[in-house]
Amino acid sequence: AEVVNAEFVKSSVKTEECPSDGLPEFALVGGSNVGKSSLLNSLVRRKRLALTSKKPGKTQCINHFRINDSWCLVDLPGYGYAAAPHELRTDWNKFTKDYFLNRPTLVSVFLLIDASIPAKKIDLEYASWLGQNQIPMTLIFTKCDKRKKKKNGGKRPEENVQDFQELIRDFFQTAPPWVMTSSVTNQGRDEILLHMSQLRNY
Ligand code: GDP
Repeated sequence: AEVVNAEFVKSSVKTEECPSDGLPEFALVGGSNVGKSSLLNSLVRRKRLALTSKKPGKTQCINHFRINDSWCLVDLPGYGYAAAPHELRTDWNKFTKDYFLNRPTLVSVFLLIDASIPAKKIDLEYASWLGQNQIPMTLIFTKCDKRKKKKNGGKRPEENVQDFQELIRDFFQTAPPWVMTSSVTNQGRDEILLHMSQLRNY
């Protein structure tokens, strides 16, 4: 399941523009600052493969990275930028939801959730939307190395992870798979790659 080779393929602004090579793909998505670029870089063991600019307005792209010439990691725009105007937020919804619903090569959405803080409404909304639309999802909990802090509700990452799963349970027939990760310690990296290879059947 190791990444031998990773290359940027293209940025697309709509689903129809995405690569038509038919390779299976996994989409990484999550709120701003959740640790998506760090995770992507840790998965491919490169410092700066994730080229996506973080400024709202420059994030409206679907970025395809081809791995080992046989499957793709897809970096989707982050959501929940406080600075984003309402219009842009609506766009995010249309844009990514269209991709989720109309991309046959999409094997699973990897939804990133910050495990160092209590569940956020916007994350619960996206998870439940994916569940209600029966889009295969894997929960990736990030920043699991962070110790509990009073200002974060005083809970450990393990507790936040449990709470989150509890809160979305009603939207899924079977509980989605989940992995606890840290881009600092590389916790969960191999587990994610193994899970992806199992989902691809090779
Ligand atoms: P993105 O906006 O989702 O792409 O998030 P980044 O990867 O840029 O990370 C946002 C911030 O969280 C940065 O300050 C990172 O150093 C920090 N961060 C990301 N992943 C981790 C992690 O696993 N553990 C800790 N402690 N911090 C992290």
